[in-house]
Formats: sequence, structure tokens, C-alpha cells
Amino acid sequence: EKRNPAEPEFHQAVREVLESLEPVVEKRPEFVTSGVIESLVEPERIIKFRVPWVDDNGKVQVNRGFRVQFNSAIGPYKGGLRFHPSVYEGIIKFLGFEQVFKNSLTGLPIGGGKGGSDFDPKGKSDMEVMRFCQSFMTELSKHIGADTDVPAGDIGVGAREIGYLFGQYKRLRNEFTGVLTGKGLTYGGSLARKEATGYGLCYFTEEMLNEKGKSLKGATVVVSGSGNVAIYAAEKATELGAKVVALSDSNGYIYDKNGIDLDAVKQIKEVERKRIKEYLNYHKDAEYHEGCKGVWTIKCDVALPCATQNEIDEESAKILVANGVTAVGEGANMPSTPEAIETFISSKVLFGPAKAANAGGVATSALEMSQNSMRYSWTFEEVDAKLKDIMVNIYKNASSAAKEYGHADNLVYGANIAGFLKVAESMLAHGVV
Ligand code: NDP
Repeated sequence: EKRNPAEPEFHQAVREVLESLEPVVEKRPEFVTSGVIESLVEPERIIKFRVPWVDDNGKVQVNRGFRVQFNSAIGPYKGGLRFHPSVYEGIIKFLGFEQVFKNSLTGLPIGGGKGGSDFDPKGKSDMEVMRFCQSFMTELSKHIGADTDVPAGDIGVGAREIGYLFGQYKRLRNEFTGVLTGKGLTYGGSLARKEATGYGLCYFTEEMLNEKGKSLKGATVVVSGSGNVAIYAAEKATELGAKVVALSDSNGYIYDKNGIDLDAVKQIKEVERKRIKEYLNYHKDAEYHEGCKGVWTIKCDVALPCATQNEIDEESAKILVANGVTAVGEGANMPSTPEAIETFISSKVLFGPAKAANAGGVATSALEMSQNSMRYSWTFEEVDAKLKDIMVNIYKNASSAAKEYGHADNLVYGANIAGFLKVAESMLAHGVV
């Protein structure tokens, strides 16, 4: 903490992983003596830069851009870009650190990185977003490449932003390569990438439930957020026979006892870019409540937090448990506080931690990279089938690592250990670099 002052999210993420690794380093002390653990918590490189751009009134605005290239032991850096006013170095470091283990868990050859800016796309015109993205990429392009570092989307960075970023990279470098993922389908994007994180979360959660003789079929589900991950988690959960009764945004949440109408949500969020409360214009009998935390007071069997970090605290976790929740699958990154996780685990709630449960997005990004390298495209069904296999394997690997290291059924331990081992073995093989 002395070395990284005032970065509480980064400390939280590192602490959780290092705790899980205690049984591993007992068996394999060479990971400590060789310096692997010490190197693992230090990013290989942090790039921090000025992003000046001109708003619609002709005024110059200045934001701050980041790219943390955390670990390239098993492949090129890979991880999203987040545009949100809360972004600072500590958030990007926590996300980059988590990404290292998540990417390893997918079984695909991708290292860990993350980036972003404190730019707020909300309320900005298309042209403002474009000018910002062009300025951001003007600097970022010096540090990334299809074999070096391949960014993707995250909060505030969707298809529109990826398009502007890709266009600027192509112009600056005069090359058409798979330097970004989450691209549009007309210029190298992969079918099923948009759906992948949410779908993958449901495949993982279903596998976790099936192992205990349960299922999403007939379950009542609460999903938080109403962005990319939340919408497609709700879609797949519904397809698997669940009833999704709530969604939220940073202002409040909607409750529809009849099951959320996703066509209405897509129209509001993806087409009109409006607030979730607009849902009442489509369904007068649904409820809207101010304040996003209240979404966890709704009685449900399965909770899928898909908005942001630390959105479920101990109090909310206790309410979920008291209301009989049987499984929690994390779609967002680190959405549960350490106290909330403790509450779920000690109450025997099935708990799918983010770095395992939401790895479907980055796994499909890696499939997009493969298709770009081959200059070929797979069908939606082919990508979706590979995604499902990957999620089932992640569950199995995390579950067996948990058992092997004496923490059966604790997927927090399992995911951290399974993700760590492949990266650590590679770092050992590379020597002190
Ligand atoms: P989007 O920008 O598409 O959606 C984010 C959603 O979460 C919005 O509904 C937003 O509401 C809400 N939200 C954001 N910040 C806050 C906050 N501080 N408090 C309450 N609600 C908030 O992002 P994504 O769906 O892509 O990402 C959601 C989460 O999933 C993030 O944690 C991200 O890191 C993680 N993730 C995303 C992946 C992907 O493939 N996109 C892959 C793996 C993880 P509002 O509109 O009001 O801001």
C-alpha cells in the first residue's frame, strides 16, 4: 500500500488474489523465491497521457488517458478501455490486474492490460465523442498493435467508440489489422462478441447451478446495470427459462413482475441512449425506483450484478441471502465487496467470481483476433458454441483447482489459483525479465 498510495480498488484486488495463493506458495515456494509474485503485482508498463479535444462550442477540453500493460507472459496484452469520470490510475490498475488471471483462465494466449480515460461520453454529441476518440488514439496508437496490445470496449466504450478508435488507428498507421476487438461486423468484428460477456455469464452460472442439481429454468433473476453486459445476460437468462424481473442504471432501477421486455430496453439503451426509467413509457404497470442500490432488495433466486465495482456491499448481500438467493454470478468486474463475498460464501450461496464468470467477453475477443489473423469469419453458432465450451471449461478448471488446494466449492480461490498457475509457470520459464 505504501508503494501504491491512494489506490483502494487495486489493493482490494491484489489482497484477494494473494490470499487465495497462500495454499499454492506453500506447495510451490519457488514462486516466491524466484520473484514471480513480486513481479506479478507490478505492471510491466503504465502509459499515461494528455487527451486534448475541441467540444461543439469550440472550447478546448483536456482529459487524461491511461493504458496499463500489466502482464504479457502468455500473450499480447488484452483488455478493455473504460471511459467514465471515475477513471484514475488505481481503477485501471485493478482492472488490468484482474484481467491477467481472467485471460489466463480462458485457456487462450492473451496477456493482461486495461486502459481508459476520465472522459464522460454521457451527454456528448457524436462528433464530440469522435473527436475525443481520435485524440485518444493519436497517442495510444504508439503503444498498441495486433501482436503487442489489443484493446477492446468496457464501460462507456461500445461499438460507436471502437469504430472511431479503429478508424483513427488505420489512418495513422496505414494498416488494417486486428488491433482492437469489439469491431463492427462490416470491418472485422466477430459475430456474438456483443452478446459474449452476458451470454458467457449465464453459461457459467448455469453450469455452477447444474453441478448442484439446480438450474436457471424457472428461476427469478435480478440483473443490475442496463449496458452491454446486463442486456445480454438478461437475454440469455430468459432464453434458458429464467424470469428476469429487474434492471438498473446509475440513477435507479426498474421492476417488472411480468418479466423485463428486452426489446423495449434495447430501444431505450442501444438506440435512443436514454435512461432506464423510460421503460415506464412502454410498460405502465412496471415500477421505477430512484437509487441503484435498491435493486438488491428485490427477492430473487439468482443475482447477476452487471454494472460496476463494489455495487453489492455487505448490507445488500445480507438482504439477498435473507430473501433466499441461491446463486450470484458476477458480470461486472469486482461488483461485490470483500464483506459481501464473505457473506455469500459463509451462507453457502453459489458464487461465481468475475474473473471466471465474465471471461466470455475477452475469450470471444480472442476468437475475434484469431478470425482477423486468418482473415476469415465464423458463424454466430460456431462462435457461440466455442464460447459455451470455454465457459464450461473455466468452471471445471476453477472448481477442480479449488478442490485440489483445499477450498472445495470456493470458486474465488479456484479462479485465482487456476488463472495464476499458467501465468506463473510462464514467468518462471522466461527467467527474470
Ligand atoms: P456499459 O457502459 O455498457 O454499461 C454499464 C452499466 O452499468 C450502465 O447501465 C451504467 O449505468 C451502469 N453503471 C456504470 N457505472 C455505474 C456506477 N458507478 N453506479 C451504478 N451504475 C453504474 O458497460 P458494460 O456493460 O460493458 O460493463 C459493465 C461491467 O462489466 C463493468 O464492470 C465492466 O468492467 C464489466 N465487463 C464488461 C465486459 C464487456 O465485454 N463489455 C467484459 C467483462 C467485464 P449509467 O448508464 O447510468 O452509467
